[in-house]
Amino acid sequence: MILILSENTDINSQEYAQLLGQLRQLPGIQARAHRVEGDLRAVMEIYLIGDTKQLSLDEMRALPLVERVVRVSEEYRVLGRHKDDGRATWFDYQGLRFGQDTLHLFAGLCAVDTPEHVEQMCRALHANGLQCTRMGAYKPRTSPYSFQGHGRACLNYVFEIAGKYDIRVIAMEVTHETHVDEIRTALRETGSPTGVMLQIGTRNTQNFELLKAVGRQKEFPVLIKRGFGITLDESLNAAEYLASEGNHRVVFGLRGMKTNMGDPHRNFVDFAHVPVVRRLTRMPVCIDPSHSVGSRSVGPDGILDLVHATAQGVAAGANMILVDFHPNPARALVDGPQALLLSELPLFVADVAAAREAYLKRTRIWAKGGE
Ligand code: PEP
Ligand code: MN
Repeated sequence: MILILSENTDINSQEYAQLLGQLRQLPGIQARAHRVEGDLRAVMEIYLIGDTKQLSLDEMRALPLVERVVRVSEEYRVLGRHKDDGRATWFDYQGLRFGQDTLHLFAGLCAVDTPEHVEQMCRALHANGLQCTRMGAYKPRTSPYSFQGHGRACLNYVFEIAGKYDIRVIAMEVTHETHVDEIRTALRETGSPTGVMLQIGTRNTQNFELLKAVGRQKEFPVLIKRGFGITLDESLNAAEYLASEGNHRVVFGLRGMKTNMGDPHRNFVDFAHVPVVRRLTRMPVCIDPSHSVGSRSVGPDGILDLVHATAQGVAAGANMILVDFHPNPARALVDGPQALLLSELPLFVADVAAAREAYLKRTRIWAKGGE
C-alpha cells in the first residue's frame, strides 16, 4: 500500500513524526518513505510493506498528511500501474520530459572511439534538432580481447563536445558502480555541460548489486535493458530493484531476445511488448533497433530492417529510441556493421516522425471507436 502525502509535507514537522509514530504501531507492517523529485516540487510517498490486507483505506486516509492511498498488487510496487493509480507516468531531467506520452531519439556511437567521431556525431545531431545521444565508454564485450571502451579517459571530452552542441542527455552504460562516480567526477570537472542517463545493459539486468547501487543514487535517471534470456516479468522486477532503492526515474528498454528463432536478425525483436510494459508499469519504454536487428540488411522496399523495426516500435507507442550511428562505420571499434550513416540521420528522423504520427492517429481511431 502506498500513502501519498500532501504536497508541501515537511519531514521535520510534528505531523510527519506523528504519522510515522502511528504507522509504527501497525502490527506486521513496515513503513518506508520515498521522496519523489519533480522539477518544481517533491512529493513524499510512504510504502507500507507486509500484511497490508488488514488495513482499511479509510483509516489510512484519515492519518495526518495523507492525501491519497493506493492499494498495490504484489508486483512492481513502485513502478507498476495499480488500480486507481494516479501517479505520474513521466519524470523530468535536464529540462526534458521522459514519459509514456513523449518520444526522444538517442542516436549516437555504440562505443566512443575518437574525439573527432564524437564531434562529427554531435554536430550532426544538433543540425537535425536533436538533444539526446548515446555514447558508450564502458563496453561489456563477449571476448576479453575485444576493445573494452575508453572508460574514464574519454568522459571529459565526450561531455565537453556534447555540451558544445547543446546535447542535454547522453545514455551511457555502466557495468560497475565505480563508473557512476567517474561520470559524476567528469561532469564536475567539465562544469556539467550535459546530463547522463545511466544504462544497465542486457548482460547486467540481473546484476542485483549493481542495480541496488545505481538505484541508491538519484542524480541520474536510469535506462535498464530487458535481459536477453529471461522473462519480461523477471526484467520488470529488475527495474523494480532500482526503484525500491529510491530512484524512480527509470526507463525500460526492449532490445530483442537471444534465440535463433530471430535469425537472420541478431536477436528476436520484441517490440510487440511496448504496450505491455506501458500497461503493466508507469515507465517510459525505449526500443533499441540496433542491438535487436544487428545488421544493415535492406528490404525490397529500400528500407533497412532496422528502420522497419524502429517504425514498428514507435507505431506501438515507444517513448525512446536508442540507435547506433557512426560517421565512419568501417572504422568503428564496436558494432560498425549495424551502424547507420550520418547521411541517413535526416531520413531516420523523418521516418520516426511518420511512425509517431501513425501512432497518434491510431490512438485517435480507437478513442473514437470507444465513444
Ligand atoms: C548497448 O546498447 O551498447 C548494448 C551493449 O546493448 P545491450 O546491453 O542491449 O546488448
Ligand atoms: Mn553495441
